[in-house]
Amino acid sequence: MSHADVLSTAHRLAWQYLNDAAGRHVGGRASRQDLLRTLGGPLPTGAADPVAVLNDLAAAADPGIVATVGPRYFGFVTGGAVPVTVAAEWLGSAWDQNAGLYVLSPAAAVMEDVVAGWLLEMLGLPSTAGVGFTTGCHMANFTCLAAARHEVLRRAGWNVETQGLQRAPRVRVLVGAEVHVSAVGALRYLGFGSDELQTVAVDEQGRMRVDALETMLVSGEGPAIVCAQVGNVSTGASDPVSGIIALAHSRGAWVHVDGAFGLWAATVPELRGQIAGVERADSWATDAHKWLNVPYDSGLAIVRDAAPQRAAMSQKASYLQRGADEERIGMDWVPESSRRTRVIPLYALIRTLGRDGVADLVRRTCHLARRMADRLRTAPGVTVLNEVTLNQVLVQFAGQDGRSADDTTVDVIARVQADGTCWAGGAFWQGQQAMRIAVSNWSTTDADIDRSADAILKCHRDAAAGGPAAPTAS
Ligand SMILES: *Cc1c(COP(=O)(O)O)cnc(C)c1O
Repeated sequence: MSHADVLSTAHRLAWQYLNDAAGRHVGGRASRQDLLRTLGGPLPTGAADPVAVLNDLAAAADPGIVATVGPRYFGFVTGGAVPVTVAAEWLGSAWDQNAGLYVLSPAAAVMEDVVAGWLLEMLGLPSTAGVGFTTGCHMANFTCLAAARHEVLRRAGWNVETQGLQRAPRVRVLVGAEVHVSAVGALRYLGFGSDELQTVAVDEQGRMRVDALETMLVSGEGPAIVCAQVGNVSTGASDPVSGIIALAHSRGAWVHVDGAFGLWAATVPELRGQIAGVERADSWATDAHKWLNVPYDSGLAIVRDAAPQRAAMSQKASYLQRGADEERIGMDWVPESSRRTRVIPLYALIRTLGRDGVADLVRRTCHLARRMADRLRTAPGVTVLNEVTLNQVLVQFAGQDGRSADDTTVDVIARVQADGTCWAGGAFWQGQQAMRIAVSNWSTTDADIDRSADAILKCHRDAAAGGPAAPTAS
């Protein structure tokens, strides 16, 4: 079977899917049992025709595919994939390069250097910072915090890479009460248990309070790491990083910024004020697969001083060939050893959109989030709970006849998901149930927002009236 047959089959199937994606029922339509029936079966014992395999696979998976690439998916913070990034991803798969070592793919190594430079300029971060291309913000948090752990302990006379953590000086780790679960997870892998973290109070939008941080920082001493956040997953609010960094640095602490999506505010002049001073932090973790709209998986671990990042990550063995110093060794910057070349779609995206196109994507989706908030809040019984400063909208729906807002909101979310016009999830925000709407897809239009708002409001009317419960996906 030739490459041409299978690749043209995949091309046709992918194209069909992408052509229809905007019109699809947005959520999954099949139950797990349905999918087990279509996708499952006994272990295949012999060969099959690969074209038939691809056709069957596409048909069997289809009802379980969620149209996250479409314009009306507002769950989590997901983002789609700009067309050229999908194509570049395919090309990268055909090349099947390993980005772990320069000799394994000089092209990938140089592309990583080039894209790192472009990204640092676009984000307004120091041009000498180290950049690692990770699976996502989660592993970026891990990478950055490993560098932080290395450096604060090095300053205390301890080499954590060789001496380990068990007898090391105690490191204080301070996080906001609204810290993302990913930062806590990354800290856990690094030996900092979640009960050991010192939690700093936040305001009503979830922003860390600098006065509370000060009280906690001055009440102890020794090596310290402060984890700040730009872009709260519910409200979109950013910690006051300028004050946090000045304070933490005056006490010798490392400041890490989790900016999975919020860091991209840096690309838009009128949004940059929300994260003013962020460039003075010591490390930054962000995602490309969310707001930058490249395919999964793609994150960025950025560390101001490359030395601790390399000290924490690099692996050396005689057979892992290194060349000239300037030849990038991919495995020096991230937890992985062998690794796919996820820089390729990023390269294509930046070449295609340019700095202005990226800024426009971020700016436009923020505008669409405000449009959604405005459409919803004018309806009776709908409350927008957050200040819509970025791309996140948090909504609560009032009930009727003694039905609580919490129950009604949970019901509205279930109905919206079953309806399929758009998809939004929920969260528990400061004691109440809320619908979370994240606008982060390059292809969303004003019309998509209006159509989605209408569908959400209809679900609210049905839920408030106590109409028949939402049908479950079948
Ligand atoms: C999404 C997110 C993460 C985790 O990123 P992944 O892309 O899932 O690896 C971490 N922090 C914040 C604030 C996020 O929004």
